[in-house]
Amino acid sequence: MSRSGRCLCGAVRYELDAEIRAIVNCHCRFCRRAHGAAFVTTAPIPTAALRIVAGGEQVANYEGRFFCAKCATRLFSRADSMPETTALMITSLDEEPTVAPSAHFNLESKAPWFEIRDDAPRFDSFPPAVAAALDDR
Ligand SMILES: [Zn+2]
Ligand SMILES: [Zn+2]
Repeated sequence: MSRSGRCLCGAVRYELDAEIRAIVNCHCRFCRRAHGAAFVTTAPIPTAALRIVAGGEQVANYEGRFFCAKCATRLFSRADSMPETTALMITSLDEEPTVAPSAHFNLESKAPWFEIRDDAPRFDSFPPAVAAALDDR
């Protein structure tokens, strides 16, 4: 099944040839600052499955955090150390994923004013074993 997504202004559009099988919440200070939010929800996807179909020239990148240069919508992240995996901001998808978050990451810099109220596993950092497992899917 192919999925699609876009930024707020619609300049950047993408198609995704991968299922959203897992989503995770990142509570790190960097994500919180970049998004203006208590945490960020991303889905790990194979980089090869993501195709920018419009507005590629508008896609800007700050230290691996990709966004629309026109409307500032965060679209995805990619680390130089793991180029084959992309963390897609699920908020940019046209159709909402139906899976529930399966983990909370980077609690060591979680917002003290936000309380997690579900039973998903919690990790102080981004566990390498989990990253590897997500990568293998
Ligand atoms: Zn935009
Ligand atoms: Zn983060």
